[in-house]
Amino acid sequence: MGSSSQQPHDSLPNVLIVDDSPDVHRLLRARLRDLNVNFINAHNGSEAMEMAKELNPAIILLDLDMPDIDGFEVLRKLKDDGSTVNIPVIVISGLHATEDKVTAFDLGVIDYITKPFELSELRARVRSALRIQMLLNMLSERAHVDGLTGLWNRSHFDSRWEEEVAASLRHSRPLSLAIIDIDHFKSINDIFGHPVGDVTLQTVAKVVQSCSRETDIACRYGGEEFVIIMPETPPDAAVKLCDRIRNTLESLTWPQMPERVVTASVGVAGCKSTPKLDALEWIALADQCLYRSKEGGRNKTTFAQVDEASAPRLADAG
Ligand code: GH3
Ligand code: MG
Ligand code: MG
Repeated sequence: MGSSSQQPHDSLPNVLIVDDSPDVHRLLRARLRDLNVNFINAHNGSEAMEMAKELNPAIILLDLDMPDIDGFEVLRKLKDDGSTVNIPVIVISGLHATEDKVTAFDLGVIDYITKPFELSELRARVRSALRIQMLLNMLSERAHVDGLTGLWNRSHFDSRWEEEVAASLRHSRPLSLAIIDIDHFKSINDIFGHPVGDVTLQTVAKVVQSCSRETDIACRYGGEEFVIIMPETPPDAAVKLCDRIRNTLESLTWPQMPERVVTASVGVAGCKSTPKLDALEWIALADQCLYRSKEGGRNKTTFAQVDEASAPRLADAG
């Protein structure tokens, strides 16, 4: 990481300038001052890679002609790395040959500016790259959000769950997973119609979200099932949170089906420290707990510990 003056400003996008010449850094900073971005400086290829990975810049302005690792090599590395592959790169280079431009575009740059550059054109191209980056960000976030409920979707859950299990194992930290399944949901669709079923799902999602804490990751797992990843949370605390969700749900009145009480059954699997199951086994255990809650009469929470070989237990609040 760079010096403290290069720490990213919280709210402004970072623009990473990669050039071996300090003069170019000074020039670009001065000329692009009014862009409302935060500049970070790398003076060689390896520094560029390090900063791109650590500081996640919105865009990268890349010189090609550098000693040590040249810009083409930096580009290959950026595009080979999953964490940097989508950062838009603008080449700013003294190389005017068509074949250099073609190589750069084939390696994935979004723009190529030759030195000396026109100031107004440079600014316009950087602004355009920033707009593209914002759209890419929006798209990738949308790809992780469930359209009906606005919660994270299944594919977001899959990747976050793997990460959280790995972190819990690495640091022996508490972690819990809850699966929440609406009871007799199919009959809501059958009796009141699919649109009322949809509104029910949206309302349950709101309850799940509002009972969860900021650090929890609430997702729609599929159909009428929700999951909550609860980092730093042992199973007993997870059970309390899920019982709040169950109690809140049970007490709701439903304008379109006033006679109906909607309830949910819950399975929780969690650890206080080092987990003894992998990510998939962990989900299977939470699912077994859910099954117990259903079998036990529904509107119940069942939990099991992942760091002790414990059988699923019905929570006291059941
Ligand atoms: P149980 O108490 O055992 O969980 O019974 P259930 O009826 O809740 O469970 P089941 O799995 O039999 O039915 C789930 C239903 O959820 C079936 C499916 O048509 C409905 N469903 C899945 N996704 C959606 C959706 O997006 N909107 C609506 N309205 N219904 C959905
Ligand atoms: Mg279900
Ligand atoms: Mg159900």
